[in-house]
Amino acid sequence: MIQTSPAAASQAPRSTREPESRAPIIQVHGLEKTYTTARGALTLFHGLDLEVYPGEFVAIVGQSGAGKSTLLHILGALDTPTAGTVHCASTNVAGLTQREAAAFRNSKIGYVWQFHYLLPEFTALENVAMPLLARGDAKRQALATAANWLREVDLEDRGDHRPGELSGGEQQRVALARALVGNPRLLLADEPTGDLDETTAGRVFDLLERLHASHGLTSIVVTHNLDLAARCTRTLRLESGRLGALETTLQTGLHTGKG
Ligand code: ADP
Repeated sequence: MIQTSPAAASQAPRSTREPESRAPIIQVHGLEKTYTTARGALTLFHGLDLEVYPGEFVAIVGQSGAGKSTLLHILGALDTPTAGTVHCASTNVAGLTQREAAAFRNSKIGYVWQFHYLLPEFTALENVAMPLLARGDAKRQALATAANWLREVDLEDRGDHRPGELSGGEQQRVALARALVGNPRLLLADEPTGDLDETTAGRVFDLLERLHASHGLTSIVVTHNLDLAARCTRTLRLESGRLGALETTLQTGLHTGKG
């Protein structure tokens, strides 16, 4: 089982939340995932274990096709495990109905993807407000909260811009505001800077770090960028269906493909 080091645990960020217990916020045990494909069964994980503690900022690296996105999907109740237990933010994720999974995602998880997936016909402000409107908040309140979040990502003057009128970095910042507008405990980010040039990627990652700390988040970031991964409190490599600390795999020669 992967354990956080005492050093990592003591690096808990400044938090706007109530103090949380030091019990893991994510606990995965014996995870297996098998897809049925035209070529037969494809098994991704072989008894994968993972524990993540509140406040950790964990990077996951690994070859393209290793299963990094699938792992995030399972943690975020977007996919289901074939075997094993998955507890995430006090929820038995594997046991959720579709309706419960949708509610879990809306209240507990912020998700950022490589591509922003903003709705092109809506403004930045409306896009950020969308998760709040989806859960039934009053429009006026939802737009006010969204405006606060646009300020948090330094885009308060872009609220009336549509996604097509924003740069790639700005689009991803709006996507980050949309991910966090519902005040989730967990941020799952799948190659959030993978579609950006190096300078913009660095700035988006700066913002991610800042929001992680100021909102007391627990964050898991899949990235192929080892420089960005090194800025996280812990880096895990997904290889041969299991997670291991990166330090040990570096000694045996690391090569990560772009996921
Ligand atoms: P990574 O994020 O590490 O690049 P993924 O999790 O996206 O890897 O995919 C891991 C493997 O699982 C890939 O070979 C992919 O083709 C396969 N895969 C992912 N989703 C499905 C699916 N729904 N059905 C069948 N195979 C899938």
